[in-house]
Amino acid sequence: MPGRFSGKVAIITGSSFGIGRETALLFAKEGAKVTVTGRSEERLQGTKKALLVAKVPESNFIIVPADITTSSGQDTLISKTLERFGKIDILVNNAGASIPDSQKRTGVKQGIETYEKVMRLNVQSVIEMTQKVRPHLAKTKGDIVNVSSIVALKAGWAHAPYYPLAKAALDQYTRSAAIDLIHEGIRVNTVNPGIVETGFHGQATGLSEDASKKFYDDMGSNRNAIPCGFSGRPDHIAKAIAFLADRDTSEYIVGQNIIADGGTSLVLGIHTQFPRQTEKL
Ligand code: NDP
Repeated sequence: MPGRFSGKVAIITGSSFGIGRETALLFAKEGAKVTVTGRSEERLQGTKKALLVAKVPESNFIIVPADITTSSGQDTLISKTLERFGKIDILVNNAGASIPDSQKRTGVKQGIETYEKVMRLNVQSVIEMTQKVRPHLAKTKGDIVNVSSIVALKAGWAHAPYYPLAKAALDQYTRSAAIDLIHEGIRVNTVNPGIVETGFHGQATGLSEDASKKFYDDMGSNRNAIPCGFSGRPDHIAKAIAFLADRDTSEYIVGQNIIADGGTSLVLGIHTQFPRQTEKL
């Protein structure tokens, strides 16, 4: 398919659902050859169906079931991509989640095993993928886009402290990796989404489909939470990822964050006491 990513090969982690699925779709529609990955066979089939409905030829994507937190999963992902497409131009480190505490503890009482799981998925897997894909991206002068979150910003998050901690670490890793790897011609940048309608506040956190829908609807209609007046959609984030993965649109942007949150991170609690700040005009 002709488009701005024609001739490019992209690995998009966490593309069995949500933001990753939409990113895989957008990249493929814009000409990229994409490696789609995640753990759930059923969800992976959902992405395959979406690609076929969008008339992406089967020769332009592969589906690789893999747990991104395991070394063998990462190796499989990379080797299958090289086997099928011969090179790697773009790595989108999107897989991530706020993993609930197994004993339902919150705040500082959350267990160290929860901390380890959250860090392993949201930070360590990104570091490992960056190390493993680096030699291939150096050959193609490629691009990395990490998917962080607005929880990485300055506000505290009392309920589940390890996820924001992990995303803040990811942002700082992006900066360090960016100035290191630009010497090899590899760019690294980050997108920090706010609330986006995906499985994130759903299956991944134990909410039913109905409860998840209500969560996103309530958030979207509360301008104290999201000033633009609606919850984000996966395609909003996919477009920001594509912008940062495309040298034509963002060549001079190195080690930066794009915050895509409908204004959420600009609102302080104190603003709710001044309705003009957040009311619909
Ligand atoms: P979803 O829960 O909808 O999708 C998460 C994706 O990550 C799925 O494809 C899932 O695949 C994959 N994944 C999770 N754990 C693993 C694992 N161990 N190995 C391989 N794949 C894994 O969430 P989103 O699309 O919303 O999340 C995408 C990114 O956006 C994450 O990094 C998240 O932290 C970030 N984000 C999301 C926000 C939101 O409001 N939605 C807000 C801010 C940031 P599978 O289940 O098949 O393994």
